Amino acid sequence: MKYDVIVIGGGPAGLSAAINVIQRGASVLCISTSPENNPLGKAEKIDNYLGLPGVTGKELLDLFSEHARKAGVELLRERVLSTFYNDGTWMISAGSEVLECSCIVFAGGITRGKPFPGEAEHLGMGVSYCATCDGMLYRGKDVAVIGFGEADKEEADYLEEIGCHVTWYEKPKKVQISGEGQVSSVTVDGTEKTVSGVFILRPSLAPTSVFPELEMENGYIKTDRAMKTNLPGLYAAGDCIGRPLQVAKAVGEGMIAGQNAADEAKGRNK
Ligand SMILES: Cc1cc2nc3c(=O)[nH]c(=O)nc-3n(C[C@H](O)[C@H](O)[C@H](O)COP(=O)(O)OP(=O)(O)OC[C@H]3O[C@@H](n4cnc5c(N)ncnc54)[C@H](O)[C@@H]3O)c2cc1C
Repeated sequence: MKYDVIVIGGGPAGLSAAINVIQRGASVLCISTSPENNPLGKAEKIDNYLGLPGVTGKELLDLFSEHARKAGVELLRERVLSTFYNDGTWMISAGSEVLECSCIVFAGGITRGKPFPGEAEHLGMGVSYCATCDGMLYRGKDVAVIGFGEADKEEADYLEEIGCHVTWYEKPKKVQISGEGQVSSVTVDGTEKTVSGVFILRPSLAPTSVFPELEMENGYIKTDRAMKTNLPGLYAAGDCIGRPLQVAKAVGEGMIAGQNAADEAKGRNK
């Protein structure tokens, strides 16, 4: 099935975009990693969101998610790894699935943490971002899984189930990936381990690794006032497009991006 719009990111900007796509009469899928990874969930008290003073970040996120669910937004809990555009259609690779749409709203928040030394050089040569996609390649082999939350531990358990010998590392401080061509070892917080593969399960990837041709400005995605980026049919909203990094701004930009993406997908504003 081809969706009119796929939203990447299930925070305030992404959920607002998805609800507005539905309200514009277009079909939508929202893909996001587990809500436990969402930074808003860590906010103890939010006092500047209109009409809901004193709400916790988790309460606000639950309210947004419930609103999206009731509006009919379809949610997929996956990590988007890459995209490909051809002749009016975007192909999105999320976990082991490939999905199609006319327009995308990217609302992935800000990327926390830099790539580890050795990560980029060994991508596809022992470094993977997806246990379900690449796990079978490592059956019977030693692998390291670097995770940042409980949902990531489930992916490590899955690798163990299919026969990988897993060493699990949660939120390590220092990681070095080594090997001549193919990965041969990983050093985590000072201890080296011989491994054939390293699975890195970050909640968010840098936007330019998902969209290599994307234009950035001062570290944020560059958009116009319609939230349109330099790439065809690609909109962006929320923290990923710049300051202030706040919920109200994310919700407003999500609305603009969602409405415009829906209109473009439906051929209303070509
Ligand atoms: C401790 C703390 C306190 C805060 N307090 C306040 C406050 O008082 N008031 C206020 O207005 N704001 C506050 N904020 C900021 C607020 O949380 C953010 O501005 C807001 O969450 C941004 O929304 P967003 O949708 O742009 O991004 P996010 O909320 O970051 O959502 C992005 C989502 O997309 C997911 N994602 C990213 N990449 C991918 C991918 N490749 N595939 C699948 N999913 C992906 C991420 O995992 C994340 O769940 C606070 C933030 C923190 C951390």
